[in-house]
Amino acid sequence: MATESLLTPARTRLASRTSQLKGSIIDSSTSLLASQTHDIVRFAMGAPNAELIPEAELAGLYTQPASGRYDYAATEGNPQLIEQIVAYHARRGQLVDPGRLLVTTGGMQGLDIAFKLMVDPGDLVIVESPTYTNGISTALSYQGQVLEAPVDDEGLIVEALPELVAATGKTPKVIYVIPNFQNPSGRTLSEDRRRRLLELAEQWDAFIIDDDPYGALRFEGTDVPGFAQLSPNNPRVVAVRTFSKVLAPGLRVGWMDLDPALRALAISAKQSMDTCTNAPMQQLVADYLAAGRLDAHLDTLRSVYRERKQAMQTALAGAFGDEIEATDPQGGFFLWLTLRGRYAEINTERLFEVALRHGVAYIPGPAFSDSGAFTDALRLCFATSTPERINQGVERLHAALEEMARDGETR
Ligand code: PMP
Repeated sequence: MATESLLTPARTRLASRTSQLKGSIIDSSTSLLASQTHDIVRFAMGAPNAELIPEAELAGLYTQPASGRYDYAATEGNPQLIEQIVAYHARRGQLVDPGRLLVTTGGMQGLDIAFKLMVDPGDLVIVESPTYTNGISTALSYQGQVLEAPVDDEGLIVEALPELVAATGKTPKVIYVIPNFQNPSGRTLSEDRRRRLLELAEQWDAFIIDDDPYGALRFEGTDVPGFAQLSPNNPRVVAVRTFSKVLAPGLRVGWMDLDPALRALAISAKQSMDTCTNAPMQQLVADYLAAGRLDAHLDTLRSVYRERKQAMQTALAGAFGDEIEATDPQGGFFLWLTLRGRYAEINTERLFEVALRHGVAYIPGPAFSDSGAFTDALRLCFATSTPERINQGVERLHAALEEMARDGETR
């Protein structure tokens, strides 16, 4: 009884920040889908499929002896891994000083540390709308005030920011941006807008959290220079990176690239979270990179994802014609779909259950906004399924939408 009273909705005994703690619909979909017994085409989680994870190579490398594998490791990260991350960046034409790197438990911990260092209660945090669910929830967990800014085919509409910001009466503290093949829309921020954003950050004395898990997965077009290239060693730019999308998400290994003074604070923050990133997994990733395997693996991923994106576009065009509108990503994992015509009034959160019954899963649009927008949109991950399964999944989605349209379901 006593315990219950501590957890009343008023939460009087809990920290005030718990009132802004939100779960992640995306993360929860993992257990929801695992509990389903019928066949489901998985367009929901942003994860590579098992057949695209180099399991045999990783298993082989894991059998190699490694001293201190099961010991506590340095908070900064395994030195061999840091060396390999520097080399990985160098091969992509990016010079990174190892004294700026901090290995993290996935990209999520990088986001958590970044927001923890920057956001006081009530601070204004600009986010793309739509944006990555967990980015919003992390900003909210530190009691930030989220300002949702619109995006178009060139990413965040940076030109719109001054007016949106002025209306809040505050000066932004953080601009959270996913510059390449954005989650969920698949869009990429143009070079001009990146430059303009750097100027605005300067003007507002704000940080840019540059969250880029997908940048190495460009399968069409040409790379847009990153913030670090446009403004080297800018202390306002904190880069959050991860091996989740290019190697395997279950490893939980990522890294931050940030100003050395900030890095010292980030290390202190991490020490009060988990002491160090999982040592065996850091060693495994270091060994995989040292064996020179990642670049060839990335080539494979790019060509497989190009084929899968095209398969999804073809299937969508065949099934829906112009009753949907979809983005055209040049890399990454996601297509963002907006319902049109006969489907325009269908609520994608309600559609989810129907679609699940038909054997297809996706993430409904409102998961990507704090204000509940995008009830007419949804995110599809094309990276997880083969072209055959993609066709099947799109057919099932079509059947679910037809059922809703027939029953006159609306928002
Ligand atoms: N940022 C974005 C934009 C992501 O899409 C993801 C993964 N879905 C992350 C961060 C978190 O990465 P990780 O799984 O390595 O924690």
